[in-house]
Order: sequence, then C-alpha cells, then structure tokens
Amino acid sequence: MRELAGAVAEELVRFVTDLPDRPASDTSRAADVIADLPGAPPEEPGDPGRLLALVRRAAEPVWESAGPGYLAFIPGGGLYTAAVADFLACGLNRYTGVAATAPALVALEARLLRWLCAAFGLQAGAQGILTSGGSIANLAATVAARVDRLGDDPQGGVVYASEHAHASVTKAARLAGIPVRHIRTVACTPDLRLDPGDLDAAVRRDRAAGLRPFLVVASAGTTNTGTIDPLPAVAEVAARAGLWLHVDAAYGGFFWLTARGRARLAGLERADSITLDPHKGLFLPYGTGCLLVRDGQTLRRGHAGEAAYLQDLDAVGDDTPDFADLSPELTRDFRGLRLWLPLHLHGLAAFRSALDEKLDLTEQVHAALAADERFEVPWSPELTVVAFRLRGADDAANRALLARINASQRVVLSSTRVDGRFTLRVAILAHRTHRERITELLEIIDRAARAPAT
Ligand SMILES: *Cc1c(COP(=O)(O)O)cnc(C)c1O
Repeated sequence: MRELAGAVAEELVRFVTDLPDRPASDTSRAADVIADLPGAPPEEPGDPGRLLALVRRAAEPVWESAGPGYLAFIPGGGLYTAAVADFLACGLNRYTGVAATAPALVALEARLLRWLCAAFGLQAGAQGILTSGGSIANLAATVAARVDRLGDDPQGGVVYASEHAHASVTKAARLAGIPVRHIRTVACTPDLRLDPGDLDAAVRRDRAAGLRPFLVVASAGTTNTGTIDPLPAVAEVAARAGLWLHVDAAYGGFFWLTARGRARLAGLERADSITLDPHKGLFLPYGTGCLLVRDGQTLRRGHAGEAAYLQDLDAVGDDTPDFADLSPELTRDFRGLRLWLPLHLHGLAAFRSALDEKLDLTEQVHAALAADERFEVPWSPELTVVAFRLRGADDAANRALLARINASQRVVLSSTRVDGRFTLRVAILAHRTHRERITELLEIIDRAARAPAT
C-alpha cells in the first residue's frame, strides 16, 4: 500500500513541479499513444511501475488544463490537496448517499453546504447539494422549480433563458420534461445581458396563450464573455410573474467571496436557486458542482423517493440530510471531503486572494488589449473573461490569429461566436495562472498580431 501510494505521490509532485514548462496544449502525438493502449485486462497481475508509466504517457497529449497557460473555455485548476482528500475518501469508501450509514461524514458535508447557503444569502430552510458539475446542478434546480411551480404535471410549462445562457440550461429543461418549443430564448441588450423587458413581454404573451411560465434562468457570468445578467431587474420580473429564479453562477459564483465580485453579483442573493462549480471557481478537480436552493423542501419534493429495500435507513436529522432525497443520485462519491479539506487546510483568505488576483490579471489583459488599436475589445469584463478580435478583419483572420497564439504552446485560448462573429477569449481562472504568464500572454498576442495573415 505504501509503495503504491508513494509512487503515485512522487508522480504527482513531479507533474505539478513540471507544469509551468509543459506545453499549454499539444495533442499531436495522441494517435500513437492511443494505438499503444492495452486491450482487455490480463488474467495475471500487472507491474505497477509499467502501469503508472502507461498512465503518464496517456496523460501527455492534452490541453494542459492544470497548468498556468490554460486560458481556454472556463479554466479549472485541480488543487493537490483535493486530490489527497479524494484519495482518503475513496480509501475510506463511506456511503454518503444517505445519512444513516455515515452520519458524521454526512454532517461534515452538510455543514459545508449550510455555510455556503448562508454565505450566498440563503438563510434558514435553504439546502445545498454537491453534484458532478454545473450541468447536473442546473438539472436538479429545474426539476425542483418544475415540481414546485407546476406540481406533478409539466404540461404547458415554459422556461426562459437568454441566448448567452450555457447549453446545459436548455439541456436541463429538456431532461426535466419541458419540450423544446416551450424553452424561450430571451433577447439580450447590446451589452449581452438578458433584457428584463423582453422577458416580461414573453411571459405575458405565453400567459395570454394559456401556457404556464414557471422558470427563468439568469447567468452570473456567461461562458462566452463572463457577463452578468441584471439580477435585480430579472428578480423583479420573476417575483411579479411568479417565476422561479435560478441563477447559473457555475463560472462566476465564487467571485462572490471577493469584495469586487460581490458588488458586481448584487442580486444573486434573491435567487430561488444558484448553481456553483467548485471545479471552476474554487480550483477543485473536475467532478465537483454545487446547487444551493432557498427552500430545501422543493429540492426534496423534486427528488425524494421511496424504496422498500432502504427501509432500515431512517433519516437521522436536519444536520444530516439524506442526499439521495435531494438529487438525482443515490450512490455518489463522498464529494464533501474534496471541498472540505482544501477549504480548511488553506483557509478562506487564500481562495479570496486567488480570486482577487484573477480579477487583477483580467484588468491587466483588458487594459493592454483595449489600448491597442489593432484590436476590438467590445465588452468590458465584469469577471475574468476578455473577448477580443482583430479590428477590421474577417473570421478567417481571427481564426488564424488564434492558431498563431496557441502555436506558442505557452498559452491556450479558445474562441466563440458573438454577434455572429468569430471572437477570441482569454479566460483567467486557473489557480496556477499568475502575472508572469499573463505578461507573456500579452507578448505572444502582440507577436501573433504582427505576423502576416496567412
Ligand atoms: C461550466 C458551466 C456550466 C456547466 O457546468 P459543468 O460543470 O461543465 O457541467 C453551466 N453553466 C455555466 C455558466 C458554466 O460556465
């Protein structure tokens, strides 16, 4: 046991140490590695060293999502302390789907969730769950909203979200039984924010047509540009129209822990439910999402079931919910420790200052690009995404610019379409991204923009 764990720890320490020098993205040799992967598992035991080497090789051709140059999509991170927590949790292998089988570990996770609810302005009666990610959190929220507002029959229910909402929002609505024809795309104002006037008009139209508007999803940090919808105004419309307000804060939510973020996210505390992604804003490994719900009973009504074979497992108490009654999952990994250990080990200040640092770095990128006449920077970042394009250039030229930037292998950016136009994005959220890499990014962008378009 010690030898195996020691070898893995060595491997990880070397990996983390080498991260700054690893290519930001290089999947060119993937085919060779894939071709060499073993087939069926052998009858006889394998050699641990060889197997570890095999994993190391398979982990080579990647977009280096754990490294400082990862500025694509919404970056994650992957705290080493969370990996250690997972090792411990998997080794202990406690059953935390219900409280009866591990009440104190369930209480440990439940307390963390209660702290999060309170931190986000959701008081008594609120309930949180940890999920595999934002998508499942959005799904559980949609189910809770549907059952709360429509009862047992979703017939005629209508969901509203802006064109910049994450794809998982409409996916969640479909999975929750809302037909595509009843999922409305609300217009945005030119600053890419959900237009509350258009929402209001759409709700009135649908009501007049005999439909049942029940849910609006606002974004607190869109994936494209990090834009925050006007939460207080959306909350007003939702309250007047009797809509459940879900805020998808998968990307932006944890900036609430900083003074600047909290000011920009004002209104978040009025949500009926909030999606957060600790595997983004708390730098945890992938597989850690979170949903907070103002009225925890709605989550229960949406998900609780009865099963004769679980009759020995009575609920233990308020401190120790049965997570299986609050989410689509019965059996789950003990995610609580993955969140709990890093928060308690590093302390909250470390997270606040890391998030603040990302806001500072974003200002640096925005200031540099906005001051450069070669670029068009149409939107001021509210969080940590800067969207930009070559001024007066077509999509092909911008695509070529992105390719030249990423060819540096020191940084990797991704792109999107906004207003129908190819747009590059710098997304700063990995905990290993610091000022040196951002300064280097700006040099790389400068050089790439000088190179003749091919
Ligand atoms: C990442 C993201 C999601 C989806 O979350 P997953 O963890 O990838 O399932 C949903 N909404 C927004 C705004 C996101 O950034």
